[in-house]
Amino acid sequence: MPKPGSLSCVLCGRVFEPEGAPYTCPDCGLDGTLDVKLDLESAGRAGFSRESLAACRDESLWRYRAILPVEKEENIPSLRVGWTPLYESRALASRYGVKSVYVKDDGRNPTASLKDRASAVGVAKALDAGQSAIACASTGNAASSLSGFSAVAGLESYIFVPERAPEAKVTQLLVYGARVLLVKGDYADAFNLATAAIDRFGWYNRNCAINPYLVEGKKTCALEIAEQLGWDVPDRVFISVGDGCCIGGLYKGFADLLELGFIERVPKLVGVQAEGSRPIADAFAAGAARIVPGREDTLADSIAVGAPRNWAKALRAVRGTGGTMVTVTDEEILSAIRELARTTGVFGEPAGVTGFAGFRKMAENGALSPDERVAFVVTGNGLKDAKSARRAVGAPLAVAPDIDELIPLLSRFN
Ligand SMILES: *Cc1c(COP(=O)(O)O)cnc(C)c1O
Repeated sequence: MPKPGSLSCVLCGRVFEPEGAPYTCPDCGLDGTLDVKLDLESAGRAGFSRESLAACRDESLWRYRAILPVEKEENIPSLRVGWTPLYESRALASRYGVKSVYVKDDGRNPTASLKDRASAVGVAKALDAGQSAIACASTGNAASSLSGFSAVAGLESYIFVPERAPEAKVTQLLVYGARVLLVKGDYADAFNLATAAIDRFGWYNRNCAINPYLVEGKKTCALEIAEQLGWDVPDRVFISVGDGCCIGGLYKGFADLLELGFIERVPKLVGVQAEGSRPIADAFAAGAARIVPGREDTLADSIAVGAPRNWAKALRAVRGTGGTMVTVTDEEILSAIRELARTTGVFGEPAGVTGFAGFRKMAENGALSPDERVAFVVTGNGLKDAKSARRAVGAPLAVAPDIDELIPLLSRFN
């Protein structure tokens, strides 16, 4: 396993040694999130290659452990995470006029969202650091994920979620035995309270936008997309954006693969936000160097983030790959839930299908070319928020247990 290398500030480039490094750059404050530098060359020398992966039988993200910053093998939690399916949808490709469409179903992770990739690494890092308690603030999924991984690792977890978090996600926390604080306020309030408590009590910080190692976990989504496509990466990858860690993770994953020589180019990354919570899309459109915090007005709770914490990595991911930012309405998100499920069999939560909604919008606007291969990530499972999904579909027909009543009703399905 690699020794974690130095860390560098995404804004000013200041370098820190891993021993005793701060979570974020003291010169740039909370906006100055850090990048983890790994010694990829020595991973290559030690035998990590496309061929070694082809022979690897580990069907989890730990197949990439040679380029993940975890020190002790025994600290890897046993819950299986990653290596989620990548489906090709010919139906979507022909409907939207592109060459190929690939659907990465990250709702298939153990607690049903992409956040499990970060929690797996975060919990291993907390154990590496000899910590016994870990904490995070979350719109919901990072919390349910952390609580699941803490349970299996025997860590105490302190979780701060805004009071609007969907019931299924809060239920997951309680079931896993987390110490749950439902914060009276929005995500920004939950984040600030968690940060103050972490400072005060010295818990390990699993906030993805603060702890640089968590983006390393999220990068495995990009590693898998590339490997599952035989290292012939798509032209574009769409993903929903809240804080910006997931898209920052995709960028880091593709950048690592390019540096390793496993791929020849990096896909254009497209970040998709909800119309009612779009500070990163606005900054991108304005060509601004920084974001201006805004509203959190969308039913897609996982991306209802008015004050995104990892905006610098998100903007770099989009600008650095020739990608773009797209926004979609809540109506478009609801119809995307329906269409994706009915076309591919993949049921996503609202933020889970937002990447698909952004792809659909760009295709409909004629912004994609017919020879493009595109992928989008479904970041969370639809059962996480059944209430929103029910808004996207009608009510079922009620019928007496009587065949004569059934027959006339059947015509209503047409
Ligand atoms: C957290 C989350 C996102 C957004 O990820 P960020 O790293 O906050 O940008 C998108 N979809 C789902 C389902 C999530 O849980």
